[in-house]
Amino acid sequence: MSVTASPPSVRSFTLSRSPRGIPRFRMTVRSSVVSVAPILTKLQKECATPLPVLRHVADAMAADMRAGLAVDGGSDLQMILSYVDSLPTGNEKGLFYALDLGGTNFRVLRVQLGGKDERVVATEFDQVSIPQELMFGTSEELFDFIASGLAKFAKKEGGKYHLPRGRKREIGFTFSFPVKQTSVDSGILIKWTKGFAVSGTAGKDVVACLNEAMQRQGLDMQVSALVNDTVGTLAGARYWDDDVMVAVILGTGTNACYVECVDAIPKLKGHNSTSGRTIINTEWGAFSNGLPLTQFDREMDAESINPGEQIFEKTISGMYLGEIVRRVLVKMAEAGDLFGESVPEKLSTPFVLRTPDICAMQQDNSQDLVDVESILYDVVGLKSNLNARKIVLEVCDTIVKRGGRLAGAGIVGILQKMEEESKGLIYGKRTVVAMDGGLYEHFSQYRSYLQDAVTELLGSEISKNVVIEHTKDGSGIGAALLAASNSKYEHDF
Ligand code: ADP
Ligand code: MG
Repeated sequence: MSVTASPPSVRSFTLSRSPRGIPRFRMTVRSSVVSVAPILTKLQKECATPLPVLRHVADAMAADMRAGLAVDGGSDLQMILSYVDSLPTGNEKGLFYALDLGGTNFRVLRVQLGGKDERVVATEFDQVSIPQELMFGTSEELFDFIASGLAKFAKKEGGKYHLPRGRKREIGFTFSFPVKQTSVDSGILIKWTKGFAVSGTAGKDVVACLNEAMQRQGLDMQVSALVNDTVGTLAGARYWDDDVMVAVILGTGTNACYVECVDAIPKLKGHNSTSGRTIINTEWGAFSNGLPLTQFDREMDAESINPGEQIFEKTISGMYLGEIVRRVLVKMAEAGDLFGESVPEKLSTPFVLRTPDICAMQQDNSQDLVDVESILYDVVGLKSNLNARKIVLEVCDTIVKRGGRLAGAGIVGILQKMEEESKGLIYGKRTVVAMDGGLYEHFSQYRSYLQDAVTELLGSEISKNVVIEHTKDGSGIGAALLAASNSKYEHDF
């Protein structure tokens, strides 16, 4: 930002240049307002992600992956073994189910697979909300409720679905809570999160809990695969496209998984994979090395329920982008009279400004920024003039740009690690990164910053081979497909 000399008390300055070097806007402001200018300049400087910073982050991601694969606890990244060694091929046939438990709803899905030619013959799904009292009840009560939901769903089968005689229905179970996976169809719950406080499950195998509840219901179903939601996304996308090697979720939180060679996993002892490959759930939200952070990030982290944890997630994911912007605006409101004399109470409320609000403000194409004006007033109680609105947009852009570009650098870190393992097999041919999550899906500006960083890091030639593809809700069908590829029965696909 350049501040030009002009008469005292009124100054003119230019905010950020567009790529073509044409100033986006000029503004004339009273001197009292100028006091926010240094805050913005400092923010932009500290959040900057030029190529060397991106490169450092990608390299650190690759190094942390390596350290996490060497021994448990070797780095910020847990690099969890999924025990998923065989990915869908497209030849899967038969009737399979998926159950997704990850929040206040659970979803069930039924899919009839018809093999290479017919593919997905039919699907149906249902969603059931979990009564509040069950989130605080016993393990048996919760799993009985889920099993009875499954039983109702199984009863409503139409003529399109066929289960061979003498077989149980097989389920892929997506369970989005921290689990120590022990095999493809078992895993110990470490702790409940997201508001669940169910007694008697921690330390137990969640698959056994569900299987026992289904038995109590007299239901002929069993779990064939326990699946993390990123792993489900990878499997779902791989079914349609053999080049999918990585899956990333960018929603409220963030995570990524990828296909790794078993030879590159020193901590994997005594596990035989016939394919020589297995999916690793990176839990990359915990990454923290070399990230460009500000006072606002540090304060948000310190006041969070998990200080010092999930730093990458707190910098790039949907839950936090709006909150970081809010914290900058509080500081600006305190510093100058940009938004009037006092800091509105609403603005002081943590998490009132949400990432979709930031997205809506950035999409305002009107001359007077009328949407920005109404969002600022309605959501955080700020009265703004046009200049103030422009400054707010600069703040939003700074935080969104840093988030999108760092997410892109993280993806390149994963690709780089895979390429080092198998020269030419990633960069030398088409490689697909499957993306899911509301942030990636709805926030086009974030998406384009992410893509920019990937292209800058890989260069124009290699980046032609790397395709980032949005796959919506692939994880449900992915879990059903993993139940098929890990079926307990003989199969010929
Ligand atoms: P979850 O991650 O909780 O499973 P989603 O993948 O649906 O859920 O992502 C929801 C998140 O996506 C929201 O918390 C929000 O941060 C982000 N999001 C949703 N809609 C938008 C939007 N219009 N613009 C920007 N971000 C959005
Ligand atoms: Mg999700």
